[in-house]
Amino acid sequence: MQARVAYFSMEMALAVGMKTYSGGLGVLAGDTVRGFADYELSGIGVTLLHRRGYFRQSIDENGWQQEQPDDWEPAKYAEKLPETVAITIEGRTVTIAVWRRSVEGLNGHAVPVYMLDTRLDANSEYDRTLTDYLYGGDRYYRLCQEMVLGIGGVKILRALGYTDISRFHMNEGHSAFLTLELLDEAAENAGRKQFSREDVEAIRQKCVFTTHTPVAAGHDRFPLDMAMRALQRKELRDMQDVFCCDNELNMTYLALNLSDRVNGVAKRHGEISREMFPNYEIDSITNGVHVATWTAEPFAKLFDKHVPEWRKDNFSLRYALRIPCDAVREAHQQSKQALMDYVNKTAKADFDVDTFTLGFARRATPYKRADLLMRDVQRLNALAERHGPMQIIYAGKAHPNDQQGKEYIQRVIQSAKKLSDQIQLVYLPDYAWELGGLITSGVDVWLNTPLPPNEASGTSGMKAALNGVPSLSVLDGWWLEGCIENETGWAIGRRYDQIENPDVPAEQDADSLYEKLDEVVLPLYYENYDGFLDVMINAIALNGSFFTAQRMLLEYMSMVYFR
Ligand SMILES: *Cc1c(COP(=O)(O)O)cnc(C)c1O
Repeated sequence: MQARVAYFSMEMALAVGMKTYSGGLGVLAGDTVRGFADYELSGIGVTLLHRRGYFRQSIDENGWQQEQPDDWEPAKYAEKLPETVAITIEGRTVTIAVWRRSVEGLNGHAVPVYMLDTRLDANSEYDRTLTDYLYGGDRYYRLCQEMVLGIGGVKILRALGYTDISRFHMNEGHSAFLTLELLDEAAENAGRKQFSREDVEAIRQKCVFTTHTPVAAGHDRFPLDMAMRALQRKELRDMQDVFCCDNELNMTYLALNLSDRVNGVAKRHGEISREMFPNYEIDSITNGVHVATWTAEPFAKLFDKHVPEWRKDNFSLRYALRIPCDAVREAHQQSKQALMDYVNKTAKADFDVDTFTLGFARRATPYKRADLLMRDVQRLNALAERHGPMQIIYAGKAHPNDQQGKEYIQRVIQSAKKLSDQIQLVYLPDYAWELGGLITSGVDVWLNTPLPPNEASGTSGMKAALNGVPSLSVLDGWWLEGCIENETGWAIGRRYDQIENPDVPAEQDADSLYEKLDEVVLPLYYENYDGFLDVMINAIALNGSFFTAQRMLLEYMSMVYFR
């Protein structure tokens, strides 16, 4: 069956030099489209061009984040097409142009990704900026962007001749306005001026939704008056139950109400979502990463030799158990050396390949608790004294408006001054795709310390596993599924869903983290490296083989797209 899936996402990581993403959501979207291409699905990606990117991060001498625009040249990466469409925002006509980039799969199958662009002479000065900044501007700017993505996206697909789309997949609620355009189409086809409840039923059969946010405050909402002004659709008020709640237009509810299938991004996130939205049927499909993209060169070579079919059949990575330990050790040392070279060059540090190295890189925002490891620096110093030296690598951007996130970065950097000479710490600026690949493959242990249940899934620990890097992580998101203690890595604290008071103080998690390092991880690394290698190999065989975009897409195909 040649069913066509249109995959809409506000951000999408398509190439290292394309600044069309900010973090996890965009990387997942890119990995999904790369998976479409490998499977030769007749999928299509839709996103915005984001000419000025998210932002470039530098860190000043006080440890404070500085932001610069991250311009890039679309013409180097994509082709501008002649088609344009127009949408109406608050009575203004906004013309939208489109760029195409093809994403190629293993056998050369190309999946087109369409990127919308309002920087046109026909538009007002303001409307020209609508596709400039990812997650920039105020609420109104964001509302306009989401109209361009959802409404403009569907119109562009039609203008390009796609009339056979069987599933519209909303990756997070940002693109949920696509449902309004589909409703308008349905009404028009029936010769009516306004859409009806029957149209809602019909459109629902075509739409599927993946939610990514496990806390209510994180859902995208607009004041109803603002949304009514911009959208000018009377039906929004007439069908309040479908579109509104509490004087707000909530993009998550819009997507929930107009989707046939709804999924969270890990099993635990599915449970949390069902608690948050008890009136909806919500399932889950656990995220995965695109294996060929996130496997570092030394491991790619190793797998080519010992598991030659690994790119085509990611499950075969379970045969990592057959690879000689020495070869795995050698591949890891090479990946680690590449990271050490980068650190020593850019941070003027003196890191070496034989010292135990911890990595922590993710969006700097309070719930990720970047400072957990640094809560008790004396204790950390004592660990190094007892077991051997340590190297710690941090990276991650805070959203420009996230003052607290910036304070976390500063706190980590300043607490490093109290470290003994047995521990070196660097905070690498401007975390993005390439650095993500270097860090997830080049450290010895991947650290993750979110405050449950905020980590919907998390994907960097999956990238690490592919490269034989075990995780040491709080049991939240994907790690509840991926952690087999002492086999694929180690847990910090207890299972969130098995403790009575979920508000575990950070002290307790920090305590558990130091204890694991002291009693298990550091002794294994420094006194029994063969034992450590076993964990590395299991991480590949059990988790690298499973938490893949390929497995994720198999589930989407059988349970969501083609059912
Ligand atoms: C993988 C990746 C992420 C996602 O990380 P999480 O573990 O989901 O927090 C974010 N940014 C970059 C650059 C990545 O490569």
